[in-house]
Amino acid sequence: MSNTCLEILNQAVEKLRSEGVDRPRTNAELLLGAVLRVNKIDLYLNRDLILTPQQIEKNNHFLQERISGRPLQYIIGSKEFFGLEFKVNEYVLIPRPETETLVEIVIERLKSHSSSKIIDIGTGSGAIAVSLAKNQKNSSVFATDISSDALIVAIENAKMNKVENQIEFFQGDLFEPLKNKNLEEKIDCVVSNPPYVSEDEFDQLPKEIRDYEPVVALKSGQEGMSFHKKITEGAVDFLKRDGILALEVGLGQAKQVAAFLEKFDKFKHIEIKKDLGGIERIVIAVKT
Ligand code: SAM
Ligand code: GLN
Repeated sequence: MSNTCLEILNQAVEKLRSEGVDRPRTNAELLLGAVLRVNKIDLYLNRDLILTPQQIEKNNHFLQERISGRPLQYIIGSKEFFGLEFKVNEYVLIPRPETETLVEIVIERLKSHSSSKIIDIGTGSGAIAVSLAKNQKNSSVFATDISSDALIVAIENAKMNKVENQIEFFQGDLFEPLKNKNLEEKIDCVVSNPPYVSEDEFDQLPKEIRDYEPVVALKSGQEGMSFHKKITEGAVDFLKRDGILALEVGLGQAKQVAAFLEKFDKFKHIEIKKDLGGIERIVIAVKT
């Protein structure tokens, strides 16, 4: 048996395929790439490189973890989001593609602002806060999370993406840590991808999510919308007039969240936007 880069890669693809792992080649490439600290193209450019026993052992270990169900991104420790690299570990939700739609919509809405102040509630890995700061040069972001372990990751991601000067991170419940900071009625946008999985839905989640991703990032009460309601109520105090509230919602929640906003009577121009999969995913509104 030969130990060249290409052979080890192809063996890994076959192993993952035989164990029923989805997208075996992509997984094998990313795992071996992480072991060798190179990107996918370099794996093929270095096809004849002989791997050391240590490298092969580490790759086998990664393969075993993947086969046992641990998400790929936690094994390799990173995830690309909005064209940027984010560190991830088990304390943060792996940023999802649908959240890129949320970021895109917020950037579009804020593009006419020469500078903007943004609050990101439940920042997790910092995916939203960092992407917004990176794409809105004159913005300042105030990001909160209940989990101090998540905030450690978010701070690293802000540094890694060179936007640490634009973001302040706060540990605490929703808007609580932002009180008495003189931010009331000064904010242009409150954005959040809060936990929105109901008790019943949680039990139906794929094992890979349920067993590995942080419960605190996912679960949200009996009907799944309690965070959307609390964030809506809290946002009113912080937003300027005409400030924007942009919330990610779960499957089937958009109309109910929009109806709540309507009834709450402090927002106008309430709109529902779809993600790339055609699912109603974002509720956006303007403070009256
Ligand atoms: N913003 C990240 C993203 O879009 O990838 C993470 C979103 S994750 C669905 C929700 C986040 O909210 C988690 O990081 C979780 O720790 C945080 N969270 C849960 N309860 C919270 C609370 N009461 N106050 C602040 N953050 C909270
Ligand atoms: N979209 C996540 C999932 O795949 C849920 C994230 C959230 O609760 N905000 O289940």
